[in-house]
Amino acid sequence: VTDLGSLRAAYGGELLTGEADLAAYSVDAAPPIGRLPRAAALVRSVDEVRRIVGWCAAKKVPFVARGAGTNLSGGCVPVRGGVVLSLARLDRILEVDTENEIAVVEPGVINIRLQEALAKVGRFYAPDPASYRICTLGGNVAENAGGPRCLRYGVTTDHVRALEAVMPDGSMARFSTEDAGPEIMSLLIGSEGTLGVVTKIWVDIVPLPETISTLLAAFPSLEAAMACVAETIASGILPRALEAMDRETLRTIEAAFPSGYPDAEALLLIEVEGSPHSVETQLERIRTLCARNGCADARLALDDSERDKLWEGRRSAYASMARKSTSISVEDGAVPRDKLPEALKRVREAAGRHGIKPALLFHAGDGNLHPNIAYDSRDPEQTARVKAAGQEMMKAYVEMGGTVSGEHGIGVEKLGAMCWQFTPESLDLMRRVKTAMDPDAIANPGKLIPEKRDRPCARPPGRLSEAARSLVDRVREKAGSAETIWLRGTGTKLPKDQAPGNEVEMLTARPLAGILDLDRGNYTATVEAGISPQELKGRLEPEGFYVPVPLLPGTLGGMLASKPWPGLRRGILGMKLLLSDGSITEFGGKSVKNVAGYDLPRLLLGSWGTLAIILEVTLKLSPVRPQIPNELAAPAFPALGPWHRRLKGAFDPENRLNPWRGQVRAREEARGA
Ligand SMILES: Cc1cc2nc3c(=O)[nH]c(=O)nc-3n(C[C@H](O)[C@H](O)[C@H](O)COP(=O)(O)OP(=O)(O)OC[C@H]3O[C@@H](n4cnc5c(N)ncnc54)[C@H](O)[C@@H]3O)c2cc1C
Repeated sequence: VTDLGSLRAAYGGELLTGEADLAAYSVDAAPPIGRLPRAAALVRSVDEVRRIVGWCAAKKVPFVARGAGTNLSGGCVPVRGGVVLSLARLDRILEVDTENEIAVVEPGVINIRLQEALAKVGRFYAPDPASYRICTLGGNVAENAGGPRCLRYGVTTDHVRALEAVMPDGSMARFSTEDAGPEIMSLLIGSEGTLGVVTKIWVDIVPLPETISTLLAAFPSLEAAMACVAETIASGILPRALEAMDRETLRTIEAAFPSGYPDAEALLLIEVEGSPHSVETQLERIRTLCARNGCADARLALDDSERDKLWEGRRSAYASMARKSTSISVEDGAVPRDKLPEALKRVREAAGRHGIKPALLFHAGDGNLHPNIAYDSRDPEQTARVKAAGQEMMKAYVEMGGTVSGEHGIGVEKLGAMCWQFTPESLDLMRRVKTAMDPDAIANPGKLIPEKRDRPCARPPGRLSEAARSLVDRVREKAGSAETIWLRGTGTKLPKDQAPGNEVEMLTARPLAGILDLDRGNYTATVEAGISPQELKGRLEPEGFYVPVPLLPGTLGGMLASKPWPGLRRGILGMKLLLSDGSITEFGGKSVKNVAGYDLPRLLLGSWGTLAIILEVTLKLSPVRPQIPNELAAPAFPALGPWHRRLKGAFDPENRLNPWRGQVRAREEARGA
C-alpha cells in the first residue's frame, strides 16, 4: 500500500499506521508468523468496511478481517501486508427475537456478551468456544468455531441462519439457509476471511434447558476415560458436553486457577440436560459406564456456582499453560469418535519419538483432540521437535479417517497438512472456488489453501463402488467432448421445459444406492446418493439412528441438490463429488468436527446439479428423532445469481453439467425484457 492518502480519503475512519500500533495487528494467538500490515482500520460501520474493501479491490491491495485475534493458526495475520480491518468496534447486538428464536448481531460482538444478553430472556447461543470471553462472533463464523456444547448442539454453522458480507469486489451480499441455489452462506462459514468480510449475522437462539447437571469423573488412566467416552456415545446418550483432561492438564490448571479438580490420571467433565427425570436417567446410565471403565470417584457439581467453577477451570487451560513457558503449541485435530483410544496411543507415540510431553485436553465427545505443548520458541531445536511431533499427530488423524483441524482452522500454520487430507483434485477445486469469488486474491491471501507450486499433494482418492465407477467412466467418456450431461435422480423434480438430449440416467434409485458404511459406534453413515430417503430411513430407524431427511419421493442426492428443507444441512458431514471433467473430489468425512478447507458439501445443497454430481454422502446420525415439518413446499428453481454463476465457472467451466438452469433463466429474462 503506497497510496495511504487515497485510502484515508476513501475510508474516512480511524486508521493506524505507526509501527508500534501495527505490530499489534501482525500477530494472533499462534506463534508469530505474520508481517506488519501497511495500515490497520478500526472500522465502526458497515459502510466503512465497504469503502475499505472497495478501495482494496480497486487497487488490488490485500485486506485481512480481524475479530479479537484469538485465532490459533495464524488466520488473521497479514502475511502479504495490506490493510487489516479490525471489526472489534462493530459490536452491537441488533435484535433478540424470542418469538422466532433468532438474534441479529454485528461481527464484533464478543461471544459471552451475547450469552449474557440471552440469559436475561431465558435463552442461550449454543456455540461456546473456550475463548468465549474474548472471541468475536464474526471470528466464530469465519472459523466455524466449536466448543464444549457442540457435542449436543453442533458447531457454529449449525446455528447461523443468514449472513451479510462485503464481498472481495466491494459489493454487499446477503446469504441465508433459505436461499434458492447453492448454499453460499455455508461456503462463507469457516472460510477464514478468504471470501469476504462478514458484517451482520443472524443466529439461532435456544431456550435454556430445564435442568443441567455436571458430573466430574476421575479415571485411573486416560485410556480408560476414552473407552468410557466411546461407550457413552455408542450407547446413544447425547450429553450437553463431554470433555477430557489428563493429569498434566489438571495439575497445571489447579496450580493457576484452583477449580476443585481431583489429582487423578484423567478426568471427564460430563454435562447432561433435560427434564429432571431425563437428567436422572442419563446420569444413572453414565455412572454405570464410568464404573465399568474403572472410575472410582464420580461426583456431581452441587450447584450452579460449583458448576461454573469447574467450567472456568476447563476454559482456563490455555491461560494456565501460558504461565509455564514462552510458547504453547495448541495442536488441534479430530478423529471419528470411536477412534479416540487409538488416536491417544498414536499421539503419545509421536510425542515420545520427539521427546516432548504434551498436556492432553480433548473435546472428547466430538473426537476433537488438543495436545498442548509448552516449549521455548527461542530454541530452534526444541521448536523443530514440537513441529515434527505435531505433524506426525496430524498425519495419524488423517490415517484414522479424521481431520487436521477440528476447530482452530488452517490459517498459515497447517497449509502443508492440507495435502495429507485432500487429493490434488479436491485442493484444485478449492483453489478454483477461491479464484472465482476473489479473482485478484486480495481477501486474506496466503491462507487456508496451499499454493499449488509449493505443495505437491499425494493423497490418493478413496475407493468407488462398482456402480459409481461405471458412472464415472460414462462421464469421463464425455469429458473430451462438448456434450452436455443431464443429471437427475428419479426425475421427480425436473422442470417441465428441461431440454431433452444426451441424458445420463444417473443416480436413479438403483444401482447407486448402497449404504457403504454404517458406523454404529461413531454415529455416522456413508451412503450412495441414489438411495431413496425411504430406504435410508427404513434401514437406519429400526436401529435407533435418525437423520434429518424428509420422507419425500426421489433420491437422497436429488433431495440434497434441490433442498426442500434447510434442516438437511445439519446432517451433512461429507461428500464425494464427480465433476463434469470426470475428476472426483472428496470433502469432509466421519469426523463430526472438521474445519479443514471450504465447506463444499453444504455449498452443494440447493445447487440443482449445476455444480457437481453427488456420488456419496456421509451423514451424522442422531439417537434422537429430529423434528421435520410435515408439509414442505416444492423447492424453487434458483435464478442464476452472480455468485452462483461464478461458482459454476469454478466447478464446471465449460457449462456442460445441467446447463438448463442457465438456459431457463435466460429465457425468463428474455421474456421479462
Ligand atoms: C484460549 C483459547 C481457547 C480457544 N478455544 C477454542 C474453542 O474451544 N473452540 C474453537 O473453535 N476455537 C477456539 N479458539 C480459537 C479462536 O478463539 C476461535 O477460532 C475464534 O472463533 C476466533 O475468533 P476471533 O474473534 O478471535 O477471530 P480472529 O482470530 O480475529 O480471526 C479468525 C479468522 O477469522 C477471520 N475473521 C474474523 N472476523 C471476520 C469477519 N467479520 N469476516 C470475515 N472473516 C473474519 C480472520 O481473518 C481470521 O482468518 C481458542 C483460542 C484461544 C486463544
